[in-house]
Amino acid sequence: MKNEPLKPATIAAQAAGAKDSATAGVVPGISLATTYTRGADYALLRPDNIYGRDQNDTVRQAEEVIRQLEGAAATLLFPSGMAAVAAVFRALPSGARVVMQNGIYWGTLKWVRAYCVRRAILLDEIDAADPAALAAACRSSADMVWIETPSNPWLKTVEIATAAGMAHKAGALLVVDGTAATPVLTRALDLGADIVMHSGTKALNGHSDVLAGVLSCREPGNPMWQEIATDRHDAGAVMGPFEAWLLMRGMRTLPLRMERMCENALAVARYLEEHPKVETVFYPGLASHAGHAIATRQMCGGYGYLLSALVAGGRERALEVAGRLQLFQRATSLGGVESLVEHRHTIEPHTGIPEGLLRFSVGIEDAGDLMADLAQALEG
Ligand code: PLP
Repeated sequence: MKNEPLKPATIAAQAAGAKDSATAGVVPGISLATTYTRGADYALLRPDNIYGRDQNDTVRQAEEVIRQLEGAAATLLFPSGMAAVAAVFRALPSGARVVMQNGIYWGTLKWVRAYCVRRAILLDEIDAADPAALAAACRSSADMVWIETPSNPWLKTVEIATAAGMAHKAGALLVVDGTAATPVLTRALDLGADIVMHSGTKALNGHSDVLAGVLSCREPGNPMWQEIATDRHDAGAVMGPFEAWLLMRGMRTLPLRMERMCENALAVARYLEEHPKVETVFYPGLASHAGHAIATRQMCGGYGYLLSALVAGGRERALEVAGRLQLFQRATSLGGVESLVEHRHTIEPHTGIPEGLLRFSVGIEDAGDLMADLAQALEG
C-alpha cells in the first residue's frame, strides 16, 4: 500500500482492530484491570501501565482512534462532555481572561459562568459569529477564546481559521467545541484551533448509550495541555473501559452515519423551510443561513445532523407539533442514530430561546418517513 494517510472511513471501520494479541480478535477485548503487576525485580511488567486511573489499554485505544480522525498530536477521553469542558477551564490560572461565544450549549455556559465567578476569571461573552465582535474582544489580551461551531441550538457558524488568528493575536489559545460537526466534517486543529472538544455522548458514539467527552490538541508540549493531562490523572476524571469500548464500537460507523445523517438533515431542513407553518429554519446547509458560506468552506462532506426551526404560533403550537411526532422521539441530546426533537425553552426558560423553537437531531432513518412524520405533525 502507498504510504498515504488513511482516510477517516478506514480509520473508523478498523478502529483498534487486530490489536488484541491475547485473542487475535478483529475487535479488541476490554481491559478491566485497575492495577498492574511488577516482576520479582520490582520492575513494571508493562512500564506504561501502573494504575487504572490514567492507564487503561481500552481507553487508550479509543483515544488513538479519535486522535487519528482529528489529526491531533494527543487526545484525552473524559467521562462526559461537561467533564472535558471543566478540564479545560480548571487548567486556567485564577484571574485569567476568557472570551466566550454566547448562545452556545446552555450546560456549558451555565457551568462556566459559575466557575469563572468562583475563580475570579474574567468572562467576556460575545457573538463570535460576528467577526467584528470577536475582533473587538480580542483587542485586549486573553488566555483563551472558546467557540462552538455549529452552535447548539442556534446553529451559528464561526470561521475557525479567523477565530484562531484573532485569538492568537490576543495571546490566547483557541478552543473549539465541535460536537455538532464531529472530526469527520471539520478538523478544527487543521484550521488553527489549539484544542478541540467534543461531547462523545453525541454523534461520535452515535447510539445514545454512552456518556463521553474528549479533548485533542495540536501541541502537547503546551503548558495548558500538560495541566489538563496532569489534572485528569490526579483528580481522577477518567472514563471507564466499558464506555471506551462502546465508544470505539460506535465510532467504527461514524463516517457512514454522518453521511446519512447529513443527507437526512439537509432534506428535513429544506422541507421545513418550504412549510407554511414554519417561520424560520436554522441549518448551515441552507443557502438562507447566515453562516452558509463559512460552513461550506470549513465543513467537508455535509452540514451536520442538528437543526432548529421556529414553528408559527409560538409555544402552544410548537409543543403540539412535538407532541404529535411519532418518529422523532421527544428527548434531550443529539447525534444518535434515532431522530430526536426537543423544545429547548422547556429546558432553559430564562436564556432567550423562543418558545416556538424546536430543535431536531436527525438520525439515519429513511428521510421520506421523517418528512411524512413532520408533515402529519405540522398539519394536525
Ligand atoms: N457541548 C455541546 C455542544 C453539547 O450539545 C453538549 C450536550 O448536549 C455538551 C457539550 C455536554 O456534553 P455531555 O452531555 O456529554 O456532558
